[in-house]
This record gives sequence, structure tokens and C-alpha cells, in this order.
Amino acid sequence: MLPTSLKDDFPILRETVNGKPLVYLDNAATTHNPTQVLEASRKYYEHLNSNIHRGTHHLARAATDAHEKARETISRHLNAAAPEEVIFTSGTTDSINLVANILTLQPGDEILISTLEHHSNIVPWQMLAERSGASLKVIPCNEEGVLDQGAFRNLLSDKTKILALTWISNAFGTVNPVAEMAAEARKVGSLILLDAAQAIPHLQIDVQSLPVDFIAFSGHKIYAPTGIGILWGRKELLETLPPWRGGGEMIKEVTFEHTTYNDLPFKYEAGTPNIEGGIALAAAIDYVNSIGLEEIYSHEKTLIQQAAAALSEIPGIYLFGPEDRVGALSFAIEGVHHYDLGTLIDQMGVAVRTGHHCCQPLMARFGITGTTRASFALYNTEQDIDSLATAVKKAAMMLS
Ligand SMILES: *Cc1c(COP(=O)(O)O)cnc(C)c1O
Repeated sequence: MLPTSLKDDFPILRETVNGKPLVYLDNAATTHNPTQVLEASRKYYEHLNSNIHRGTHHLARAATDAHEKARETISRHLNAAAPEEVIFTSGTTDSINLVANILTLQPGDEILISTLEHHSNIVPWQMLAERSGASLKVIPCNEEGVLDQGAFRNLLSDKTKILALTWISNAFGTVNPVAEMAAEARKVGSLILLDAAQAIPHLQIDVQSLPVDFIAFSGHKIYAPTGIGILWGRKELLETLPPWRGGGEMIKEVTFEHTTYNDLPFKYEAGTPNIEGGIALAAAIDYVNSIGLEEIYSHEKTLIQQAAAALSEIPGIYLFGPEDRVGALSFAIEGVHHYDLGTLIDQMGVAVRTGHHCCQPLMARFGITGTTRASFALYNTEQDIDSLATAVKKAAMMLS
């Protein structure tokens, strides 16, 4: 287990709710920022704030250096072949929309996603399908919330142009065998995008060892602020694909007749980026690495197993997802509405998420409108799990 003193790095965790200490278990929706990250943001605005790349003055150069250094930190963390493969976006949703808007598909082409996807890895592909005449195919899952690999292989064909797959389900914590699935998709010549929004805080990602083309994630799921995210893309591919948004920074030369585009990564970064956000994201990655992703993973694994065991004792409870779930634990209690449960345990200081978790098609697959979801981060403790279990037990008794 990680030391409980790590909680002290996160000022917001000292908040109280109804006079009770905050027990924050909504980390799959957003994580908190440690002092190390808050300091990086503050230092940026106090000492560096300036627009990047075009300035000749001191601050502009210093801000540009910090911004590009942040890109290098993120690139190293992902083991990218070059920092130019790391594109700053506003988040996972923005990154996926970028890819869905630079691919050209034809009627008859197929886009393959899975039942486990977040709306942000469904809707951009539906929009692309509508624009292009391509069709959207969906890999089904079984009762445990695990993807059906036989059905997946049957869905793959030379019509498959892109496989867009979540690495870890934000709703059920299912970890998909993405390396194996990507390798299968490669065989039919498909491109592969991974939604790594949930993978980034829990798993080490090595883009060079994965047969994938794009990876999307958000800063706020890995202890950085909202409004910053990453699209990693394979350089040879990004060099040949067209730009998406037009504007400043993404150009080399503009005349009213014709514009030539900038090199990577700037070609995909139109307009003033979230400079502070990028620097804060790099600080968050440094923070996570100072603790160690393997240590974080096994700490969270222990907590999630303890939570599953404690909650299992409650009569009428059903736990969604496979036993080896990572990050998120979703459950339902017979005769208890998830919203009522969430509201009641909030009064006891326990923050969880209730509802469809931006996965309405997945909820429909299970014939439910939503679940209650506890999700875990490096700062959660065994005491948090006790508080969760006690609160849910009490609430279930009051509600059923
Ligand atoms: C949070 C999340 C997203 C969306 O991220 P944004 O930061 O809202 O863009 C997409 N996919 C998964 C799996 C997520 O957990």
C-alpha cells in the first residue's frame, strides 16, 4: 500500500462535507491536483505567462521553452518516437474528434467500436459515418462486461478502416486486451485509436510497443487540470493526414489565395493553446512517476478488491464488470435507485457517481438506467473503503 500521507499532497481532500471529512471516490470523472501541480500552474502565471512561439521578448521565449519542455516530458512518458507525435488538445473528447475529422471514409467502409465506449468515443464516429456514408459496427460484451473476442474477429474485415476502442471502461473497470485486439485489426489494414482516458492514471503506456496509431487522454484524469489533453499519433501518419482546425500557429504561410501548413505538431494546434495546462500536465506526470505507476496500480488494486469484498456483503447488491476490474467499481442494489443512494451517501461525505457514466448504450445493454460507481486514485486509503462500505450499508438499509 502507498503511504496515507500522500493525501496531504492534495489540498482539496481537506474539505469537509456536512461536517464530515470528504471521501472522494469519483476519480473516473475527475482527479484532484496535488500541490506540485498547483504550484506549476501558479509559477506559470506568476513568472512565465506570455503567448508562445512568435514572441521575441524574454517571457515569450521562457513560456515557449516551458511549453515545449512539457511536450518532451509527456512524449518521454509515453515512450513516443518523437515529441512531434504529441499534440496538445483540450481533452480526450477533443482528441477523438480531431482524428474523426481528418480521416476520409467512403460508403461501404466500416468503423468499429465497442459496447463499452464512452459517448465521446461513439458520437464523433457516428458523425463521421453520417458524413461519409461509412457504417458503424459495435463489438458486443458478455454479462460480465467483457468484450466478445469471437464476435470481434468476425466483425473485422478489409472494410474495417478504424478500430476505436477504450483501454479501460470508465463504467465497469473492464480492461480490454488492447494489444492483442490492435494486432488483429492491423492484419486487416485498419487504423487503431485507443481511448486511454482511464488507462493513463493506472497503467504504463508504451506507444512504441503497441500496434496502434492514435492514443487520446485527458489531463484531468491524471491529477492535472481540466481543459488540457493529448492526442498521440504516429508521425508518418500525421504527416500525411490533413489538418483539422484552421487558424494561427498551424500555418507556414498565408495568402488570400493559398495557405501552406506548419510541420508537426503545430499543424494540429491552431490558436493559442492551454499553455499552463500543458505545463501542469507534465508536472502531474512527474508527480505520478515520482511515486511509480506500478505502486499506484497495486495500491488501487488492493483497494478495489477490498471495496468489492465489503460491498458484496450487502443483501441484494450486484457488482458489474469482471473481477479483475481496474479503477472503477459499479454496483446496483435491488430496490434502491442509484440516484437516491448517491444522494444519501453524499450526506455522509462520500462522493461517488451515479447514472449512466456517459455510457448510455452500455446501460441499455444491461437493461438499466445507471449504476452507482466508486472509482479510485492513488490518494484513496483503506479508511476511505471503510467509509464507503459503511455509508452504502446504512443507505441501503434506509432505502430498501
Ligand atoms: C472521461 C472519459 C472520456 C472523456 O474525457 P473528457 O475529458 O471529458 O474529454 C472519454 N473516455 C473515457 C473512457 C473517459 O473516462
